[in-house]
Amino acid sequence: MPVTVKTFATSGEAAAALSSERDARYLGGGTLVMRALNEGDVSVSTVVRATDRALTQLDVASSRITLGAGVTFARVLAERELGFLHPVAGSIGGPAVRNMGTVGGNLFAPAPFGDFTVALLALDATVALQGGYGGRDVPIEEFLAGRGRMAGGLVLSVSFQRPSSADAFRYRKIARIKPKGGSVVTLAAHVASSGGRAIGVRIALGAMAATAVRAKGAERALEGRALDAANIDAAVAAVTEGTSPTDDSLASAWYRREVVGVHLRRLLTGQP
Ligand SMILES: Cc1cc2nc3c(=O)[nH]c(=O)nc-3n(C[C@H](O)[C@H](O)[C@H](O)COP(=O)(O)OP(=O)(O)OC[C@H]3O[C@@H](n4cnc5c(N)ncnc54)[C@H](O)[C@@H]3O)c2cc1C
Repeated sequence: MPVTVKTFATSGEAAAALSSERDARYLGGGTLVMRALNEGDVSVSTVVRATDRALTQLDVASSRITLGAGVTFARVLAERELGFLHPVAGSIGGPAVRNMGTVGGNLFAPAPFGDFTVALLALDATVALQGGYGGRDVPIEEFLAGRGRMAGGLVLSVSFQRPSSADAFRYRKIARIKPKGGSVVTLAAHVASSGGRAIGVRIALGAMAATAVRAKGAERALEGRALDAANIDAAVAAVTEGTSPTDDSLASAWYRREVVGVHLRRLLTGQP
């Protein structure tokens, strides 16, 4: 089946094209879209591209960081101010995937992919969306919950608050295939500290549901409490609450549920 490629100079025109054609798909870095097309995915009849430079801009100068949807993982890795995200970007695929794969595309990557999105969820990011009739900012949790129903929207950027200290943001990905492995489990946590107590606790899990999800039971076990052995035990005990992992070639759902607590403990106690 022929596929038409439409390239637009502005994100507004691209968003309008996406919302007016049901079988149109936006092309970010193309690491997933091109794979699907090459494998004969007939659900896509039009590929929409945008050359708008705003989509590839980074704003890292202030405490509120904004990454254009078209920013690649290689670009994140090249930016010193984004050092806390280097372990995240570096855990995605091999160099070819990191050169092409984008932050925006990662928001749509099906499990067990979507590692950068796990980090964005722990950072409580906001997603800037452009639809056919205008733009709006959506909290990432809401964006992910509605992702399956979202048709025709263009993600312009994501923004989030820089973590207040080096150890306030933690990330861990468990994979079997290196360097391009899909995730067995991915964990990201934002845990700031005030007077010896954990505050602003957000724990995000990847490959534990259809999209990245917050481990709210584990968060409740830690919020406002000391990060000590008893509270970490309670968080580990609650970490699978609200998750729904599936079996795939990397791991069974049972295995994922068994190991996620082990890795949460290591993440929280700083063990390798
Ligand atoms: C060999 C290999 C290894 C991989 N390893 C990993 C890994 O370790 N971790 C991981 O997380 N992912 C991995 N991936 C998946 C993928 O490369 C990444 O998730 C990447 O971030 C996808 O971004 P992209 O720009 O290439 O997406 P694309 O392929 O361009 O698009 C993917 C989907 O997102 C939509 N989309 C893209 N940008 C936008 C936008 N701005 N607005 C609206 N919709 C948009 C597209 O329409 C499409 O539906 C791997 C892929 C391959 C092929």
